[in-house]
Amino acid sequence: MTKKLNNLDKNHKPEDLDNICENCNIEHETVYQNLILTGFKICESCRISKTLYPI
Ligand SMILES: [Zn+2]
Repeated sequence: MTKKLNNLDKNHKPEDLDNICENCNIEHETVYQNLILTGFKICESCRISKTLYPI
């Protein structure tokens, strides 16, 4: 039995992806996580802002 369910962890991060937020251009460790979770390449604070005040 093979386990291929969770390939998207830190060790398998594609090299063209960094942790720089597209909204505020600040590097943050949550950017990649939010990209997976929400589809937006944004940091935690921007994610909260977009959630509370969607434009
Ligand atoms: Zn941001």
